[in-house]
Amino acid sequence: MSVVTTSQPGIKTPGNYINDVMTLVKTKNPAEPEFHQAVQEVMESLRLVLDRHPEYISARILERITEPERVFMFRVPWFDDQGNIQINRGFRIQMNSAIGPYKGGLRFHPSVNLGILKFLAFEQVFKNSLTTLPMGGGKGGSDFDPKGKSDNEVMRFCQSFMTELCRHIGPDTDVPAGDIGVGGREIGFMFGQYKRIRNEFTGVLTGKGLNWGGSLIRPEATGYGCVYFAAEMLKSRKDSLDGKLCLVSGSGNVSQYTVEKLLDLGAKPLTFSDSDGAVYDPDGITREKLAWVMELKNAKRGRIREYTDQFKKAIFMPTDLKLGYNPLWNVKADCAFPSATQNEINAKDATNLINNGVTVVAEGANMPSTLEATKLFLEAKVLYGPAKAANAGGVATSGLEMSQNSARLSWTREEVDDRLHKIMIAIHKTCFETAETYGTPGNLVNGANIGGFLKVANAMLDQGLV
Ligand code: NDP
Repeated sequence: MSVVTTSQPGIKTPGNYINDVMTLVKTKNPAEPEFHQAVQEVMESLRLVLDRHPEYISARILERITEPERVFMFRVPWFDDQGNIQINRGFRIQMNSAIGPYKGGLRFHPSVNLGILKFLAFEQVFKNSLTTLPMGGGKGGSDFDPKGKSDNEVMRFCQSFMTELCRHIGPDTDVPAGDIGVGGREIGFMFGQYKRIRNEFTGVLTGKGLNWGGSLIRPEATGYGCVYFAAEMLKSRKDSLDGKLCLVSGSGNVSQYTVEKLLDLGAKPLTFSDSDGAVYDPDGITREKLAWVMELKNAKRGRIREYTDQFKKAIFMPTDLKLGYNPLWNVKADCAFPSATQNEINAKDATNLINNGVTVVAEGANMPSTLEATKLFLEAKVLYGPAKAANAGGVATSGLEMSQNSARLSWTREEVDDRLHKIMIAIHKTCFETAETYGTPGNLVNGANIGGFLKVANAMLDQGLV
């Protein structure tokens, strides 16, 4: 394999420099399409920055920011309930610590691999910078699938995972949280094992239980924050969420609290989904129906298809990859809140959403739209809130949990919610104003990428070649 290097950075034009960096990233990280996609999106925005800041080119900031500071990959052996030995693979990507300790979730899902976690860690760097809090970027997880496992199996896995991970993390080094497949149960098992091995009761994980160091509003934060962000986008066009028909995908943590906050603000959520398919309730998902879904998904760990047994007017639309589009995104609505997983909205889905009158897309999931879908939203002047801005409320509230842990006190629900709301307003303002400053008003993708990048890049310049 040929090794690509950038030639003399001093004589490069910004365009050439970015093309070279993309070639380098693809060559050095083969077979990691999600990572390439996340980098490509940021690089396109940074074309606007390098003309004004040649110092980033000479300091080779883009090559440095796309290279993780450290990557751990490890074996996770555990016994299942039948006494069989199971082996999974664990990861932690410590991407960038220029502005604070590494911070980012752990994902347990069979699709997890190095490339997916690198894309998530890369996004996290910019997202954490946008929150205004001092947090670097990281991400980790495992190809372990908690679905269908007993509590004891999940505990044995989490203990084995943390037995290795605990060497690499700490409250001032790297503070993981939850993500897909990692909720309060998994955080509890991992915290217990960390404490046992290290003999320390510290804020090493966020998303903890309320009676052992967790923060009020942390479970709600990503969904609430995403809806606050959508409300800010609408405010910029003198509109609100009141009465808006909303599509929500997923039915996990982010989706549930997105629906809850939509109801608070007078909107009408219509859908939920999981990997088997989507439910569409033309009467709208009420608080009572949401409570039923929370019980189904969080306590019974059931499937969303069961919603239609309980609420007869709702219909179930099974996942059918051969269709080439997701029927959930073809329901007539005003707003869309993709809250399941990456690349869940392709170009056909984006076209369906636009043709059906959707004017707001706020991303609760990470990178739920393909590059083509994003382009279509921007061209159609949809109010498009990219993930690294719209879903930053989760990690922001994790930052607030870290502050409370350090001070050894707990803030009230109202106080945390108020701080979260203010942070989301501030993130929107940064994205909105940065997009204008760099000549692309209304383009919050550029606003988020550039706004997040500048703080990290300047910190990297200040700290020398490390
Ligand atoms: P959960 O595990 O609680 O829920 C995930 C939901 O998405 C489930 O309904 C799941 O369905 C569905 N889903 C997952 N993978 C797929 C897939 N490949 N195809 C279709 N559906 C899928 O996770 P969260 O709600 O925490 O996370 C959802 C998204 O939000 C992720 O992209 C995550 O990175 C992002 N996010 C989460 C934050 C948090 O604080 N939790 C913070 C910021 C972003 P099924 O049960 O069938 O797998």
